[in-house]
Amino acid sequence: LYVEHPLGEEQPVELTKPQAHYLFGVMRQAVGGEVALFNGRDGEWRAQITSAGKRGGELLCLEQTAPLMVPPDLWLCFAPIKKARTDFIVEKAAEMGARRIIPMQTEFTNAERIRQDRLQAHAVEAAEQCGGTFVPEVDDLQRMSALLDGWDATRRIMFCDEAKVGEAFDLGAAERGPWAIFIGPEGGFSEPERARLHGLTHAHPVALGPRILRADTAAVAALTLWQKALGD
Ligand code: SAM
Repeated sequence: LYVEHPLGEEQPVELTKPQAHYLFGVMRQAVGGEVALFNGRDGEWRAQITSAGKRGGELLCLEQTAPLMVPPDLWLCFAPIKKARTDFIVEKAAEMGARRIIPMQTEFTNAERIRQDRLQAHAVEAAEQCGGTFVPEVDDLQRMSALLDGWDATRRIMFCDEAKVGEAFDLGAAERGPWAIFIGPEGGFSEPERARLHGLTHAHPVALGPRILRADTAAVAALTLWQKALGD
C-alpha cells in the first residue's frame, strides 16, 4: 500500500479515509493484520494494523523488507495524446523504470493541459502493482522548446524519429549515465523541432523499425530498448 507518511522503525502511520476504505472495506483486513507499505522514499516496510475504522486507522511499522530501489537516471519526455493512451504511457513508463516522466507540448500536440495529479496517481498505482519501492515524478505539461532551453548537456537523448530508418544508432555501445527518451505526438515532430533535436550534440536519433508506431507503442518499445542496452 502506498502512503505519503515517512516510514521507519516503530513509526506509526495514519491512514486516510480512502486508504481505510480500501484496506478494511475492500481487502477485508482487520486489527492485527499485516500490510506492506511504501512511500517512494523509504523502501518497503512490513506494518501491523493497530486500529481500524470507517474514516481512518493506524498501522505500526515493524521492519524494512526491501530497501529503496532507485532506477537508472532515465527520463521519458513525450507529447501527450488521447487521455487513455497518455494514462497508458505513464503507467508503462513507471513499470519500466523511468525515473521522471515529462509530458511536453510540441508544435503538433493537441493537449492544452493535462491532469498532472491523475497521471501521478497512475504512476503510484503502477509502482504498487509491480512491487517497486520507487515512484517516478510526473511533471506538469511544459513546452518542449522551454525544456530544451534549460537542458543539461550531460543528459543524452534517445530521439525516436521514424524518419531515421536505416540510420542505426548503436545503443549497445552508448555511454551509461543520465538519458532521456523523446517521443513525438500523433502528428510527429515538426521540421524545426526535428532540426533542433538533430542539432544537439548528445541527441541520438533512433528508429524503432520500419513501421510508424503509435506514440504509446513507440514509448514502450523505446523504454524496452533502452533498458536492454543501458538499464541495470
Ligand atoms: N510523424 C508520423 C506521421 O506523420 O505519420 C507519426 C508520428 S508517430 C505516430 C508518434 C511518435 O512515435 C513519433 O514522433 C516518434 O517519436 C515515435 N515513432 C513512431 N514510430 C517510430 C519508428 N518507427 N521509429 C522511431 N520512432 C517512432
